Amino acid sequence: MSKLKIAIQKSGRLSENSLRLIQECGIKIPNGGGKLITESTNFPVEILFLRDDDIPQYVEQKVADIGIIGENVLIETRKNLVVIQKLGFSACRLSLAVAKEVDYKDLSYFNGKKVATSYPSILEDYFQENNIKATIEFISGSVEIATGIGLADGICDIVSSGSTLFSNGLKEVEKVLSSQAVLVAAEKLDSEKQQILDKLLFRIRSVQKAKESKYILLNAPNQNLERIIKILPGMNSPTILPLAQEGWSSLHSVISEDKFWDIIEELKGAGAEGILVVPIEKMIL
Ligand code: ATP
Ligand code: ZN
Repeated sequence: MSKLKIAIQKSGRLSENSLRLIQECGIKIPNGGGKLITESTNFPVEILFLRDDDIPQYVEQKVADIGIIGENVLIETRKNLVVIQKLGFSACRLSLAVAKEVDYKDLSYFNGKKVATSYPSILEDYFQENNIKATIEFISGSVEIATGIGLADGICDIVSSGSTLFSNGLKEVEKVLSSQAVLVAAEKLDSEKQQILDKLLFRIRSVQKAKESKYILLNAPNQNLERIIKILPGMNSPTILPLAQEGWSSLHSVISEDKFWDIIEELKGAGAEGILVVPIEKMIL
């Protein structure tokens, strides 16, 4: 039986989250001990550990069937790949930055300037769309030091908190692109591999769904139940169980993480007591 080959970053900002996702899907990966390829012991997949920049090419050439990379790398490498799932981790942005002292007003600052970046294709498109004529200086790493050493007037690099920029005397002036980790594949997989991928995607979506939701249990006097049920936008109608104490019930439901605190306030206001909120490990829809 064939195995689905998944390429992930060997070591870097995507590695830990990529491995965690695979493990949360119940896929066991033996400790590779620095190996390039390792096989799962309980699911038909092989994991290839690569540099993130090489993953698009490997997937396009079908050395790997699918891969996990940042959207920034996907767009920069311009390979013919499809995003099959956004993964929500390693969120960052690609931004233009200049020295703190620069009196920056707008993008026209970059006309006639030199900008250092590891993302020349994305930056070229961005400047073209915005009618800016600048020189792009490609460097493969440590872009943040380019202005300090006099190589460029500005840089275009990955930013998350901005602390790296700050400690190099730079300030962020324009966001070029937002990025997160995505699962990519080449156009067509054979049917056996597609079946494995479908199973994997089902698991990934269950894990993601569970992260967005919480299981909630509460006690309430029976006369308030109707009001409380209206507050809870659960997947289904909530479960209601009688308590030993006369006239009281226990109510169970699922709520979404983003509305969490608002809902809790409302529930308290409606007479709910003993509210328990527990994480959900998997959610099968
Ligand atoms: P490699 O050795 O594999 O080429 P790298 O040095 O190019 O690694 P990393 O710095 O590990 O790459 O970043 C990998 C990806 O993680 C980036 O392409 C981007 O999508 C994302 N990323 C980078 N920096 C951050 C950050 N500070 N916060 C969150 N995500 C980030
Ligand atoms: Zn890289």
